Amino acid sequence: MKIRRHIGEYNFIADQESGMTFRWGKTLKDNPNFAPVPELVDISISNHCSKGCDYCYRDSKPNHSFMSLNDYKFVLSNLNHQRYGNVFQVALGGGEPLEHPDILEILDITKQFNIVPNFTTNGENITQSIVNNIKGKVGAVAVSFNDMKDIGNSKIELLVKGSIRTNIHYVLDRNNIKQAIQILKGDFNKELKGINAIIFLTFKPSGRASSENVLVNNSELKDFLKLIDNNKACCNIGFDACFVPMLMRFTKTNIDFIDSCEVGYFSVYIDENLMVSPCSFSNNRDSYSLKEFDFYDIWLNKFNNFRTRVINTCNQDCNAKINCKGSCPYFPEITTCFKN
Ligand code: SF4
Ligand code: SF4
Repeated sequence: MKIRRHIGEYNFIADQESGMTFRWGKTLKDNPNFAPVPELVDISISNHCSKGCDYCYRDSKPNHSFMSLNDYKFVLSNLNHQRYGNVFQVALGGGEPLEHPDILEILDITKQFNIVPNFTTNGENITQSIVNNIKGKVGAVAVSFNDMKDIGNSKIELLVKGSIRTNIHYVLDRNNIKQAIQILKGDFNKELKGINAIIFLTFKPSGRASSENVLVNNSELKDFLKLIDNNKACCNIGFDACFVPMLMRFTKTNIDFIDSCEVGYFSVYIDENLMVSPCSFSNNRDSYSLKEFDFYDIWLNKFNNFRTRVINTCNQDCNAKINCKGSCPYFPEITTCFKN
């Protein structure tokens, strides 16, 4: 099914089957500055998690809080623009969404708002009953880890066998880049059978994640980047917005078809305390409470400050400069090709 939105000089079409999205401005050659209604909303429904991953950027713990059902409904109602309708999809995360006692109701409520829910999980709580219950209700489920050996422990197979579109969120850092190279060489194709896509997420030194593991511009990263254009992985490969500058700079990816960091322009983050910020890594910076301000006041007015601040000051002689937003506004060290 195709979804579309046309507001003034902002035009957007998404193909829900392939996940492809297209956006243009006044003409097909123009880029709109930002979306009057966000294209994607990242919602943390809890900061509760029992797994204890050392890369957890939110430092989620078993005694941390959940978003209440009433608050969740309040968030979705707030996202509904009086004139242009609701957002099309949300990405639910945490914490661990499957530890939320009301996760199934949350998925049902999302569908009632005519919004497609997706969620990310550590994989530990997937059961056949969960698979049966979420079938037909979710766009995709992403299972996150940073070592391919975890694919066996993650019960991901239940999702694949249940025909749920399943992605892997592979947190890419300085220590596992060698394994990531093997993934691109096709060495893990047996394990990746049935997976829709492996998405490489750039490691960020936030929460429990140590700054010692941030990617560096070394020969291993260069080898990884070289393999991207001709990778042999049996599933689709993808990257988070944080990795896009390196794709623009070092791969043949068409720079007109990819977005560098789009937070605060096309996507937004809302945490379990109803704080709205451009990105889940904002860590309370550029953050406004939904209890105090209307969502569209935050999105259309309050975020202007962030939008005018984010400018590319990169000094590299680089063809991508026109499309690139430069280094990450919160963790500049993760943008390994950026030089000031
Ligand atoms: S603000 Fe930084 S962490 Fe967030 S998506 Fe952009 S580059 Fe990534
Ligand atoms: S402009 Fe700078 S940060 Fe952006 S892709 Fe080029 S080198 Fe990287």
